[in-house]
Amino acid sequence: MKLQLLPSTFDAETASLRQHLTCFVIDDLIAIDAGSLAMAASPLQLQRIRDVVLTHAHLDHIAGLPLFIDDLFSSLSEPVTIYATEPVMQTLERDIFNWSVYPRFSELSNANGPVLKYSTFGEAERFTVKHLTFQPVPVNHKVPSTGFLVSDGRTTIALSGDTAEMDGFWNLINSTGDLAAIFLECAFPNELEELARVSHHLTPRRMKLELEKCERSCPIFVVNLKPMYRDSIVKQLAELNEPDLTILQVGKAYDF
Ligand SMILES: [Zn+2]
Repeated sequence: MKLQLLPSTFDAETASLRQHLTCFVIDDLIAIDAGSLAMAASPLQLQRIRDVVLTHAHLDHIAGLPLFIDDLFSSLSEPVTIYATEPVMQTLERDIFNWSVYPRFSELSNANGPVLKYSTFGEAERFTVKHLTFQPVPVNHKVPSTGFLVSDGRTTIALSGDTAEMDGFWNLINSTGDLAAIFLECAFPNELEELARVSHHLTPRRMKLELEKCERSCPIFVVNLKPMYRDSIVKQLAELNEPDLTILQVGKAYDF
């Protein structure tokens, strides 16, 4: 399984470490969240990705989605399918694709047919997208949000999405066999504990408590570091002395 966290911005032509937006691409084919999908997808990814799975509807996870569909509008031979829970789908239709912020693509077609369709999933209901199986699990964020186990039949990875402390995610991980990697958010540094608490995010200190719930031994990649606090978060994560913990490199394609 190939996984890449798409960049949010670029320094010259190199992916910047500043991660404002979240968009994972698996096997150049399926996107999980769409923060920078329109802005950073490669030509191959733009050509191939027609399935977008969403963890939640916050702007940094969907910002590139309206623009992605817009870019592809006239060339699509099949609709872009958005996989989301019912509340996330309703938020998109009410607050984004509402003709005020952006066109309601679900009502539009090109010469080949509809350009956008939704596939809603229950918060714990397994579903399949192309060659991948997704097992959703509710996590603890300010809005309805989902983490996932994602498997291609050989390799399984776990993504927390945006979250604060959680139990269901770890229970799912602990009851799963081999895991190739866990992707865990850490948005704020320890000194912004109160902001992390109010906005339902993790800090390095809070992450340490989460890792105590994990009974699996596998690489853990940290994502969703707020760019303004990146240096501080990186330093505090290093001080945790967790040998399995590294920060996911923005833009790099990993093979699991
Ligand atoms: Zn969020």
